[in-house]
Amino acid sequence: MKQRIKLLLLLSISLILITTIVTEPKNKIPENIKSEVDIALHHFPELEGISIEFKFKKNIKKSVMLAQPTWSGLLKPKNKRSYKILISEKFKISGAEFKTLDVPRDVLIGWIGHELGHVMDYQQRSNLNLIGFGIRYVLLKEFVKKAERAADSFAVSRGMSEYILKTKRFILNHSKIDEVYKARIKQYYLSPDEIMEMVKEQENSSLL
Ligand SMILES: [Zn+2]
Repeated sequence: MKQRIKLLLLLSISLILITTIVTEPKNKIPENIKSEVDIALHHFPELEGISIEFKFKKNIKKSVMLAQPTWSGLLKPKNKRSYKILISEKFKISGAEFKTLDVPRDVLIGWIGHELGHVMDYQQRSNLNLIGFGIRYVLLKEFVKKAERAADSFAVSRGMSEYILKTKRFILNHSKIDEVYKARIKQYYLSPDEIMEMVKEQENSSLL
């Protein structure tokens, strides 16, 4: 009898443990950007339950943030996939160095929104297509343009246009930001005018 109680106890403890692990919040967010990430995530209810880890990196080549699927997630069905959003600690500025965390709050939210736009785009692709995506992104400039504009569009369509515009203007109007980076933004991303055009179209279609 005692043995049975012990077994039952052990069983219930493991059940509690398993439930905790399964229902534990899946997103990992550093405390110092938690409120900005939460605001951005709030615009993407579709991503609820998708595991996304936000992680600071010393430096990322060519960009400030980077959204990517995890390798282990690529072996699982879409709804079990997980993603990483890497954030460069430093921001490319000619001459002076400046920390990503020091940019205005709304600009940071816009940046995070753009990355979540990439995750939305990834979520609509099959695993095989995603692997192809990675290869094409590295090789084809036209493809980079398509992918970056898709990410911006997702964020704008989820009501983040104000944030996205602030991010864009922050980069393009900042006198100290590297011209090479500015040129890259102009070449591959939606321009402020195009974003405003999208917002107008959205407003018109919602009036119909
Ligand atoms: Zn991007």
